[in-house]
Amino acid sequence: MAIFSQATGSLLKLNNMIKRILTSLLLIYLLLPGSAARAQDTPPPSGPIYIIQPGDSLSLIASRFGVSLDDLMAANNMSDANNISAGAQIIIPGLEGINGVLVTQILNYGETLHSLSRRNRISEAFLRKLNHITSPSELYAGAGIVLPQQTDANPLNHRATLNAGESLLEAAIRAGSDPWTLQQVNSLNGTWEALPGEVLYSPSAAAETSEPNGMPTAFASVTVTPLPMTQGGTSEIIIQSQPGVTLGGSLADMPLHFFPQEDGSHVALQGLHAMLEPGPYPLELEATLPDGSKQSYQQMVIVQSGYYPNDPLLLVDPATIDPAVTEPEFQQLTQLTAPATPTRYWQGKFQSPASFTDCFTSRYGNRRIYQGQGTDQQIQSFHSGLDFCGGEGLPITAPADGVVVFAGPLTVRGNATLIDHGWGVYSGFWHQSEIKVQTGQTVKQGEVIGLVGGTGRVTGAHQHWEVWVNGVQVNPMNWLDAVYP
Ligand SMILES: [Zn+2]
Repeated sequence: MAIFSQATGSLLKLNNMIKRILTSLLLIYLLLPGSAARAQDTPPPSGPIYIIQPGDSLSLIASRFGVSLDDLMAANNMSDANNISAGAQIIIPGLEGINGVLVTQILNYGETLHSLSRRNRISEAFLRKLNHITSPSELYAGAGIVLPQQTDANPLNHRATLNAGESLLEAAIRAGSDPWTLQQVNSLNGTWEALPGEVLYSPSAAAETSEPNGMPTAFASVTVTPLPMTQGGTSEIIIQSQPGVTLGGSLADMPLHFFPQEDGSHVALQGLHAMLEPGPYPLELEATLPDGSKQSYQQMVIVQSGYYPNDPLLLVDPATIDPAVTEPEFQQLTQLTAPATPTRYWQGKFQSPASFTDCFTSRYGNRRIYQGQGTDQQIQSFHSGLDFCGGEGLPITAPADGVVVFAGPLTVRGNATLIDHGWGVYSGFWHQSEIKVQTGQTVKQGEVIGLVGGTGRVTGAHQHWEVWVNGVQVNPMNWLDAVYP
């Protein structure tokens, strides 16, 4: 009996002690800054953390994650939607089961939900929920995709494909791995689950790193740069294909021309119009196999704004913007720049064609409204080239090697020269006081091709240079800064 009462007493004491501890813990919790409001509400908010990026607004974040602005603010005890700063962490509510830090990555061309899931070791359902993807066709190359940050493991960047008739063991050996590792990292329930043609990921660098995701076998690898694409930019599509394959395709409905490179790959360069509406555009690739059969792949690619400024309204002689004059001349240039010459004449970066290499009076892409003096006639346009400082009589040099395809007077553009650099790339020089080359002539980089002037319909002497890539006038500055391809 005595033993029993002693035990009961101890239990009571223990019970009181627990109560005291719990009370103090609750007090500590209530005294912690910011916790009072949460304690009165439902349980403390849980969910993944998003790090606010420069340029983010709270409503932008709310719409990205499909939550209401009110819920987002409530989850984070915020009262002012404008009071956010880049780098701060906020909780995204309504994503039960998802935790950790979320990061945004740019989606590569050829990447599918399946490949993303495999490579990052997260389920497709999870990716769909996190990114509000209802259809696989919503995976636009160049768009941002939200992924949970990997803390314990690096993404699996080495790919290994299971060929027809091949066992997982054979594929694993080729990938410098073993079937059990491949089974584990690819979340397969058993080695039997790997199907021929499936893209698997291997932690080993010996795997075929060139195998693209979710693309037909004719395309060993496809690299699209830059992503996202930009208005007025030059896009580069490099394909490693099976031997004997003929490549074609289109970007935003413009046919692509592929040319072989020394390493066995093929490259197509394509300009994007300065006024192309930002948004997703189809990039379609087609491979014709030696037996005549075709394989194709299509994915939407994001084209973003070039953020070109507006120039002041330009009052011009109405004849300057008369379509009867401007259209035939533009058509003439379009025809001259249409052929994609199989020879590539240029090497490396382009060189500035001007005396003052870093001084510009007008840059490419500027939005322009031309108004005919004394009329209501207006033309919405853009500046199709780069204007350099320096006036009448200064030498104009070839920015790269090439062949002159036109040298002569034009009504609007004055004394004009067009140089074919090969592979669909051309340089144009207008308003010259003197042309120093002839059609058919080969020119070398740095060679004087003419003199700056004010011929044609211009207000004064200036040096205008434009670059055409596969039928589109692009930002020449890119060709001075980067090496294509
Ligand atoms: Zn110009």
